[in-house]
Amino acid sequence: MNTQRLKMVHKGSKNTCETVLYWMQATQRVDDNAGLNAAISYANRYDKSLTVIFNIVENYPEANQRHYTFMLENIEKVGYKLADKGIEFVVTLGDFSVTLNPYLKAAFALVTDYPYGDYLKSVYKTIINTAKTLDIDVLQAESNVIVPVALASQKSEYGARTIRPKLLRLKDDFLVLEKMPTIARKSNTFFTGFKPTLSDFIKQLNIDQSVLKSPVFTGGEDEGLKRLNHFIENNLNDYQHSNDPSKQLNSTLSPYLHFGQISPVRIYLSVEEACEIHNKDRVSCENYLEQLLVRRELGFNYMHYHKGYDCFETMTEPWAYQTMSVHLGDLRDTIYTIKDYLGFKTHDVYFNAAMKEMVYTGYMHNYMRMYWAKKIIEWSPNYAMAYETIKTLNNTYFLDGRDANSYASIAWCFGKHDRAWTERDIFGKLRYMNAAGLKRKFNIDAYVAHTNTLKNL
Ligand SMILES: Cc1cc2nc3c(=O)[nH]c(=O)nc-3n(C[C@H](O)[C@H](O)[C@H](O)COP(=O)(O)OP(=O)(O)OC[C@H]3O[C@@H](n4cnc5c(N)ncnc54)[C@H](O)[C@@H]3O)c2cc1C
Repeated sequence: MNTQRLKMVHKGSKNTCETVLYWMQATQRVDDNAGLNAAISYANRYDKSLTVIFNIVENYPEANQRHYTFMLENIEKVGYKLADKGIEFVVTLGDFSVTLNPYLKAAFALVTDYPYGDYLKSVYKTIINTAKTLDIDVLQAESNVIVPVALASQKSEYGARTIRPKLLRLKDDFLVLEKMPTIARKSNTFFTGFKPTLSDFIKQLNIDQSVLKSPVFTGGEDEGLKRLNHFIENNLNDYQHSNDPSKQLNSTLSPYLHFGQISPVRIYLSVEEACEIHNKDRVSCENYLEQLLVRRELGFNYMHYHKGYDCFETMTEPWAYQTMSVHLGDLRDTIYTIKDYLGFKTHDVYFNAAMKEMVYTGYMHNYMRMYWAKKIIEWSPNYAMAYETIKTLNNTYFLDGRDANSYASIAWCFGKHDRAWTERDIFGKLRYMNAAGLKRKFNIDAYVAHTNTLKNL
C-alpha cells in the first residue's frame, strides 16, 4: 500500500465498537480505491467488520437529475459489488451531519476520502470534528489524483510549465495499482439503501428534475472501464489529432473521473501499457498522458490553493483583470441571453452545435468548450456576467461539471494559466477564438452534422 496517499487525521483512543466505517464520497468505486483498501486492512488488523456508507443530499450545489442518475447508477452497482465481498453498504438520504452521526457513534474508526472543493471541505470538516469529539481514529485517503495534491506542490502553480516537472518527478511513486485486501470479518447485512427501483427513487428526490439523464453516458465502474478499453483499442493511436471536434477521438472519461468511478492511475497505466506493449503511437500516448496528468492535476492544484476559485472577482490573474478593466466599455455588437443559448438561437452554427452536444449529452468536445466559452465572453454585456453564464451552463449541463477542471478551465478562458495575447476589442489581452479558425483547422461541418443527430436520441 502506498501510505503517502493516506493520512492519519486524528489518533483516537480505542473503544469497544465492532465496526470500521468508510465514508465513501469523492471516490465512488470498489476497485483501485485507496480509502476502501485502507479501511479493510484497518478492520482486519483490529478484527472488526467494515461498513461503507454513502450519503445522498438533495441540495447538493448545482446538481440535477442528470448528475444524480449518473451517480446513483454507479452507487447501486457499488452496493452489490461490496455485498459480494462481504462488506456492508449503507446508503442514507439527508443532511450529512444528521445521517452519519449514528454510524459514527457506533464506529471503531473512520476512514474517508479527501475532498478538494469548498462545499465538500466544509462537510468534511463537520464530520471529522464529530469523529474527533468521539475520539476515534480518523484516516483520510486521496485516490482521485495520480500525485496527491499537497505532495505535488505546496503552492498555487503558475501554469502547466511550473507544475509539470514536479508531477513528472513524483508520478512513478504513485503509479501503482494495489490489490484489494479481503475482509476477514464478513458482514451479515449487506446493501441497505434504495427501496424502490432506481429510476423511481430518483424521481422521488427533491432535486432539479429539469435536466434529463444523459442518453449516452451510463454511470458505473464497469462502464468507465469499457470506455477506457474502447478508447485504447480504437482512438488512442490517433489521439494527437483529437483537437478536431469532428473526429471524436477523445476518451470521454471525464464524467467517470469526476465521480471517482475510475482511477486516474488505472487509466495512466493502461495507456502506458498500450504504448509500450501494443505499440500505440507514442506521440498520441504522450499527448493523452499530458492531459490526464499535467492538465488535470493543475486543475486540482488550482482548486486546492486558489482562494475564491469559483468567483469572478478572485479567479484569475492581476494582468487579466487589468486588461478586462480597460476593455469593459468596448461596444458589444451582439448580446445573447442564456435562453438564446439553450434554444440554439445564436447566429453562430458552430456555437449552437456545441450547445446541442452539451444539452443533449452532458458532454462537449474540449476544443468546442474553449470556443463556446470565448463566444459567451464576446456576447455578454460584461465579463462578470459572462463568467456567471459559463459557470452556470457548465455546471448544470456537463456530467463532469462542478469539477476542479470546471473552475480551472473556465478561469483559463479569463487568462488563468494562460498568457497575454495581442490586444483587441472586448478581449483585451485575453486569448481570442473565432469561427474562421474552426473552419481552417477542422472539418467543422461534420461536427455540426453529428450534433444535429443528437436531438433524436
Ligand atoms: C470552458 C471549459 C470548460 C471545461 N469544463 C470542464 C468540466 O466541467 N469538467 C472537466 O472535467 N473538464 C472541463 N474542461 C476541460 C476539458 O475540456 C475536459 O476535461 C475534456 O474535454 C474531457 O473530455 P475527455 O475525457 O474526452 O478528454 P480526453 O481528451 O480524453 O482527456 C483525458 C482526460 O484528461 C483531462 N483533460 C483533458 N483535457 C483537459 C484540459 N483542457 N484541462 C484539464 N484536463 C483535461 C481530463 O481529465 C480528461 O478526462 C473544460 C474546458 C474548457 C475550455
